[in-house]
Amino acid sequence: MSWEAVIGLETHVELSTRSKMFCGCPARFDAAPNTNVCPVCLGLPGALPVPNREAINRIMRIGLALNCSIAPRPVFHRKNYFYADLPKNYQISQFDLPVCVDGYLDVGGDHEGRVGIERVHQEEDTGKSTHVGGDGRITAAAYSLLDFNRSGVPLVEIVTRPDIRSAAQARTYAQELRLLVEALGVSDAKLEEGSIRFDANVSIRTGPEAPLGTKVEVKNMNSFRSLERAVAYEIQRQTARLGAGQRIVMETRHWDEEVGVTRGGRVKEGSSDYRYFPDPDLVPMDIDRSWEEKMAALLPELPAQRRTRYEDLGIDAAQAATLAGAGSHLHRLFDDAVRSGAGPAQAGNWVTGEVVAILRRSGKDSLEGSPLSGAHLAELLAMIRKSAVSASAAREVLAGVMSGEGSPGEVAAARDLLQISDTGVLESALAAVIAANPDEFARLRNGERKLIGFFVGRVMRETRGKADPKLAGSLIRDRAGL
Ligand code: ADP
Ligand code: MG
Ligand code: ZN
Repeated sequence: MSWEAVIGLETHVELSTRSKMFCGCPARFDAAPNTNVCPVCLGLPGALPVPNREAINRIMRIGLALNCSIAPRPVFHRKNYFYADLPKNYQISQFDLPVCVDGYLDVGGDHEGRVGIERVHQEEDTGKSTHVGGDGRITAAAYSLLDFNRSGVPLVEIVTRPDIRSAAQARTYAQELRLLVEALGVSDAKLEEGSIRFDANVSIRTGPEAPLGTKVEVKNMNSFRSLERAVAYEIQRQTARLGAGQRIVMETRHWDEEVGVTRGGRVKEGSSDYRYFPDPDLVPMDIDRSWEEKMAALLPELPAQRRTRYEDLGIDAAQAATLAGAGSHLHRLFDDAVRSGAGPAQAGNWVTGEVVAILRRSGKDSLEGSPLSGAHLAELLAMIRKSAVSASAAREVLAGVMSGEGSPGEVAAARDLLQISDTGVLESALAAVIAANPDEFARLRNGERKLIGFFVGRVMRETRGKADPKLAGSLIRDRAGL
């Protein structure tokens, strides 16, 4: 029997607003434990929440970038459950009236497809528990520590429809979504720091027409690679079970990165377990057209649009994808360089090639704060075109510019890398070389072409390596009448 995988992803994005979702505390949790807290985010009796307008601005931009409609009157609900890091015993979230509904995100490449977005809703994060002693899990811990700095930090949840069909496509979607969030500038969008987190719902069925199977929710993946591995593992586990005539239990499973398996945990709550009801402390929001239009006008160029624009400039798909990565800032350099007169093809090669290589060598993956400007790059490429520097000298010049030594012209002069492409200067160097090697020159004139290399070498030596070798070669051929 053949099986088809069905996957839906839930993504949590922590917004990088200055303050928390319902109080004025800083939305940063790198401070000393329990210092960014107040009665609201500690859930003290009588404290009242006030929504953060900037968070709503941002969720609207996320929704609009995902082609969603914005609900005119979204409502906050209480999602009730008990946990020590949830001091109110409920999380303020959204239920049947989220801010954004019914969108999609197109993913390209080898795993092309349109992934429907069911909803994008606003909620708040919980505090953070640290279980001390044992293996870090609550069951074996001697005691637990609670830090409420994260309590109430704005969290946006993006829920797809069950439209994803493979582990690789799940990864592609997740990567594209992260790029989008990063380009929107609404979140740090760092997987390693947990500011973007993915949960995968996985089921399998006998074919595209069959009803959906029982799903399992997989958590705890903190890289794109582990997301893909976890989904692939889960598909294979479910296929084996169903193939052996066993049933799939609806549950939450955790990915064990080291062992490479998912493990069953708690039985999954149904939404009725949470006793959702509208939060009586918060009135429905009133989102009018003009607010929505203002947010739409603030949307930057999105990664997919940027890639298409680059491909239209003749950049190949792989380079376009590298350039369009938001966090690296490569696209700014590229765009500025082209604006300053660089050819797109040459600029694309240098940015995705040497610039990335130099960054990597210095342990960086972003141009953030780099002294290299687009104008610099355009200047360097023009120097190469005019043979003012050789290709290898240009790489050295670039490294100098990127370490803050000045403009390409300045670095090339200071490091003595300018090439001599002044015909007059080369002619006189050549004359000296011919005078010193009359026999060789006679043989060259008689057609011994392999001596061209010998003369180029001598001219290079005469000019202490600074002659433009191509130009020197052509002058030698002219003089020898070849
Ligand atoms: P829950 O209330 O359990 O979180 P939802 O219906 O809200 O469930 O769906 C959560 C996610 O699970 C969504 O991304 C949805 O697309 C996905 N999903 C729903 N049913 C299935 C299924 N049978 N197989 C795989 N994914 C599913
Ligand atoms: Mg869920
Ligand atoms: Zn607070």
